[in-house]
Amino acid sequence: MKTDNVEYTTFTGWIDPPADIRSALRGDLACEVAVVGGGLGGMSTALRLAERGRDVVLLEAEFCGHGASSRNAGQVAGAPGGDLQLLNLLHRAKMPGLIRLAERAAHHVEDLITTHGIDCDYEPTGNCFAAVSRGQMGRVRRVTKILQRAGCQVELGTSEELGIPRGFLGGMREKVGGMLNPGLFTLGVRRALLGSSARVFERTKVTDVTRDRGQVVLTTARGKVRADKVVLATNAYAGEWDITPPRLAVPLYVAEVETEPIDPARLAALGWTSRSGLVTQHAIMENYRLTPRNTIVFGVRRLQRGTTYPLPQRTPDPALVEELAHAFATRFPALSDIAIARAWGGWIAITSTWLPLAGQIGDTVHYSIACNGHGLAQAPYLGSLIADLIVDGERHEDLDGVWKKNPAFPRPVMMSPLGLRTIWAVDRFNDLINGSRNNARRATTP
Ligand SMILES: Cc1cc2nc3c(=O)[nH]c(=O)nc-3n(C[C@H](O)[C@H](O)[C@H](O)COP(=O)(O)OP(=O)(O)OC[C@H]3O[C@@H](n4cnc5c(N)ncnc54)[C@H](O)[C@@H]3O)c2cc1C
Repeated sequence: MKTDNVEYTTFTGWIDPPADIRSALRGDLACEVAVVGGGLGGMSTALRLAERGRDVVLLEAEFCGHGASSRNAGQVAGAPGGDLQLLNLLHRAKMPGLIRLAERAAHHVEDLITTHGIDCDYEPTGNCFAAVSRGQMGRVRRVTKILQRAGCQVELGTSEELGIPRGFLGGMREKVGGMLNPGLFTLGVRRALLGSSARVFERTKVTDVTRDRGQVVLTTARGKVRADKVVLATNAYAGEWDITPPRLAVPLYVAEVETEPIDPARLAALGWTSRSGLVTQHAIMENYRLTPRNTIVFGVRRLQRGTTYPLPQRTPDPALVEELAHAFATRFPALSDIAIARAWGGWIAITSTWLPLAGQIGDTVHYSIACNGHGLAQAPYLGSLIADLIVDGERHEDLDGVWKKNPAFPRPVMMSPLGLRTIWAVDRFNDLINGSRNNARRATTP
C-alpha cells in the first residue's frame, strides 16, 4: 500500500472547519446553565436545555466540533464498547442496562438527524465485530452469546452470511446503528444549536472552574460566566482544572486514515454487500468502513497516552500510518496497491472501568465523560439526559446506569505508556501466530 503522499491534518479528514465561527466571550455574564465544551456531548446538552426553555451559555475553546466528535470513524454502535467478556464478568448485572443505553443512543442519533434535517450520509447498516483469526472468531461467538442473553440485537455469521469482505472469517453484526460522516453530523448539530436560543461563544477556553456562594464561576481570557449550574463536557481535556476528580479518565490519541478513491468495480469485488462498518477483535481494534466517496476509512491499532495538559494538537505518527497500511494490505490483499490519501487523529477519554460515566460534583457541577470510543452516539444521548436531569430533577434510567455517586477512580494501570505498548505487542504476537497458521493452511490446501 502506498504511503508516500499522505496529507497529514491536525483537524479531520471528513470536513473543513466551519466558516462562521462565533466570536469569543468578552465581558462578564450570568446564566442559568453553562456548558463547557462544544463536542456532540456539550452541544446536545445545550440544545436540549434551550429547547426546554432554559437560559443556557456554551463555551468552546476552538469551535463546536473541533474535538473527537468530527474526527471519529463515524460508526454508530448498537452495542456497548470495551472488553465485553470482562465487562460481563465484572458487571454482569449492568449488561442489560448498558445494551439499552447503546441501542437508545443509536436511535437518538437517528432522531437528531431526522428532527434537524442533517445531511450526513447516514446508512443504517449496523456494524460488525469482524474476526481475522479462528481465535478471534471464538471470542466473537462468546461475545454474541453474552449480548444475546442480555437482550442485544446481534447476529452471528460467516463473512458471506454477513456480507463482509472475504478477508475476514466472519463475525457478529449489530442490527442497530450504522455509519455516517461525523464531520457533517457534527456541523448539523452545531447549526441546530446556533439556531436555538443558546448563547454560544467559540474560541473561548475555560481556564478555571470554581464554586462561589451556591453558583459556579467559569474563567476565560476576557470574561467570566456566573451560572447556577454547569455541565463539563470536555471529554479527554477534562483534566485541566482542579475541580476535576483525580484520575477521572485517561486521554488517549487515536488515528484514522482514508484511502484514495477506489474503482467501484474493485470495491464490489470485495463482497462487502452489507456495507457494515467493521471492528476487529484485537485488544486494540482495527476499524474499517466504506464511504460514499468510494474510499475506505480505517484506523486505531495503537493508542498513544497523553501525558501533559493542555493536550497538543498533533498529527498521527507516520510509523503508525505505515503499520495501518500494512494491516490494510493483509485484510484487503486485492487492494494492496491503493494509496493512503490522508491521516488525522483525535483525543478520546478512557475510564478505568472502560464504562461511560456521568456524575455530579456538589449540587452545581455535572459531568459526563469517556464513552470509550463509543461516544459518537452515547455522548450526545447522555448529554441530552443530563439536560433533562437539570430541568426535571430526576435521572433517567439510562443515566442512572452510568451514574457515579462517589467520584473516586482507581489508577488505570494498563493505560500507562508501557501498559499500552504491552497490549499492542500481545496483539502483534497473536497476528504473527495467526499469519503463520494461515500460511501453513494455504500451503497444505490442495
Ligand atoms: C479517531 C477517532 C475515532 C473514533 N471512532 C468512533 C466511532 O467510530 N464510533 C464512536 O461511537 N465513537 C468514536 N470515537 C469516539 C467519539 O468520537 C467520542 O467519544 C465523542 O466524540 C466524544 O464527544 P464529546 O463531546 O464528549 O467530546 P469532544 O468531541 O472531544 O468535545 C470536547 C470539546 O471540548 C472542548 N474543550 C476542551 N477543553 C475546553 C476548555 N477548557 N474550555 C472550552 N472548551 C474546551 C474541545 O475543544 C472539544 O471541542 C472516535 C474518536 C476518535 C478520536
